[in-house]
Amino acid sequence: MPIVYPHKTEMPVRDPQARRRSWDEVAEGYTVERAIAEARRCLNCQDPVCELGCPVNVPIREFVRCVAIGDFDGAASAIRRRNLLPAICGRVCPVEHQCEARCVLFPHQDPVGIGRLERFAADWVREHGNGGESAAQQVWREQKVAIVGSGPAGLTVASDLAQLGYPVSIFEALHAFGGVLRYGIPQYRLPKEIVDEDVEHLKALGVEFVRDVIIGKTVTIDQLFDELGYSAIFVGTGAGSPIFMNIPGENLKGIYSANEFLTRVNLMKAYAFPEYDTPVYRPRRAAVIGAGDTAMDGVRCAIRLGAEEGHIVYRRSENEKGARAEDFERARDEGVIFDWLTLPQRYLGDENGWVRGLECIRTELGEPDESGRRRPVPVPGSEFVIEADLVVIALGTNPNPLVPHSTRGLDVDAHGCIIADPETGATSRKGLFAGGDIVTGAATVILALGAGRKAATAIHEYLQEQLTDKGASRNGAAQAHVPTSDDVVTSRPDISVAEHEAEERHRGYMEGTVWARDYATANELRGFVENFGRGMESALEIVTGGTEHTSVEGSSDFEGPYWEGFLEGAEEVLIEGTGRGWLNS
Ligand SMILES: Cc1cc2nc3c(=O)[nH]c(=O)nc-3n(C[C@H](O)[C@H](O)[C@H](O)COP(=O)(O)OP(=O)(O)OC[C@H]3O[C@@H](n4cnc5c(N)ncnc54)[C@H](O)[C@@H]3O)c2cc1C
Ligand code: SF4
Repeated sequence: MPIVYPHKTEMPVRDPQARRRSWDEVAEGYTVERAIAEARRCLNCQDPVCELGCPVNVPIREFVRCVAIGDFDGAASAIRRRNLLPAICGRVCPVEHQCEARCVLFPHQDPVGIGRLERFAADWVREHGNGGESAAQQVWREQKVAIVGSGPAGLTVASDLAQLGYPVSIFEALHAFGGVLRYGIPQYRLPKEIVDEDVEHLKALGVEFVRDVIIGKTVTIDQLFDELGYSAIFVGTGAGSPIFMNIPGENLKGIYSANEFLTRVNLMKAYAFPEYDTPVYRPRRAAVIGAGDTAMDGVRCAIRLGAEEGHIVYRRSENEKGARAEDFERARDEGVIFDWLTLPQRYLGDENGWVRGLECIRTELGEPDESGRRRPVPVPGSEFVIEADLVVIALGTNPNPLVPHSTRGLDVDAHGCIIADPETGATSRKGLFAGGDIVTGAATVILALGAGRKAATAIHEYLQEQLTDKGASRNGAAQAHVPTSDDVVTSRPDISVAEHEAEERHRGYMEGTVWARDYATANELRGFVENFGRGMESALEIVTGGTEHTSVEGSSDFEGPYWEGFLEGAEEVLIEGTGRGWLNS
């Protein structure tokens, strides 16, 4: 094994004292020099096990290699083949439990800073280039798709289906788009300009964004199907319904659910009151109950609102906290006080009904409970009071109940999560798909994104199966050929081949075949075909109309303009491609 510098290249962060009262982004990102230095720590493994830790199979070795040689456009393009929100995921993904936990350098040395490099590549392209842009759609289809909720799951489905040519509408209950990315995760961790850019990108692809529409109240799922003519619907409504402790005093003024507190601060910009309309209590001493990402966001927002003291109150120990290590460390650097092994028992209020403190009891850890974590057991006689004039309850959330409650024939589990096939997002209602937190319960951005990608593929397949009329238009032509499931020679080649390819890629070897009888399906498979590029032997055979025949080598020949020019006007197209070889050989 070559000698590698044992520590991650530092990413500059702003001074903790200065940032206690500032909403500007804390982490400043890598410079070009630092990014290249970090990327060069990667061993370019024959067997890149880091990729097994990525829920959406980002080609990590390939993109890190691109950064190492200064091809930042190439890096961003490689990431975007699998992840449509790289600037967001590069900032908020829990990489220490995913890709970086699998890196071969770890635990003897720091793992390669995959998250930081992802952020760098995405930001570089945002600022300098266009290499990460997705291709505009080449086909127009007639079946409309509705997406309920504009979080990462919904945005991903919208992007994938819009690029396949479907008219897509996103219905969002709030007045702004992005789900938790917008209303939950604070500006200093995820600048909202990044979310805005991703939304604008989707608008440019033709996605319609409809705000202030509560599906299940303003319009029901049944109305979307029956009256508004949507052929398929994806539900990505998330898990934003707060959980309370149900202890005495919980109705005192100054006690917020994390959801309400963060929505006021982030979405409604309460920190800029009265410039913005929504007020929020500005605390002197804040206590946040819980120790996950949401709790860290709550306490750091309270400090930025002016709190002199910000407490995290958690009934288990530091080892059981759910927050990302990076955010925990930044909270600690900003002066947050951690009350571990502390269980609130009741809230204390003043004569005007405002909260003034929490009566707590110390705990010790007993046997593991059903979650696998050691159960906190109160220590008799250890009661004490934490003074606080603001309390934020960040104990987790339940799925948003409105769509499940208002939709006939939609099965949910005991927790209120919609039951959906993990591979397709299909629910008990025909044509209705679901994914993200509404299915899994509160999880992560990248898992929501992965669920969205799978659901988009399944929705496309479902809609193809629904098509019986072959006279619909392609590229605006009145009676041109419309792809159906008959057009695909294999059963679901886009799925089976892509998965096959992903497995093989981990062993450094790829082999596969794609078949499609029409341009649209072939275009969909292009990402797969392109994977045969970059140092691999490859061949793709294209037959148009049964008469023309050509064979081309390498991936660059398969780019959009070539395909379009070549296939334009063909009545029927049979595309067959095979490739095999060693990556980076
Ligand atoms: C404060 C906080 C911090 C977090 N930090 C991280 C982090 O650092 N890293 C990480 O990976 N994950 C983090 N998460 C978790 C992550 O944000 C979620 O797992 C992810 O956003 C789920 O995506 P989603 O698309 O399923 O739902 P959401 O992002 O919740 O989006 C759902 C959308 O649906 C809308 N909606 C709900 N009901 C309706 C309806 N009836 N009609 C119309 N629209 C509706 C909602 O308004 C919302 O916009 C955090 C979560 C929170 C709350
Ligand atoms: S596991 Fe991945 S990130 Fe780590 S050294 Fe190997 S290729 Fe690089």
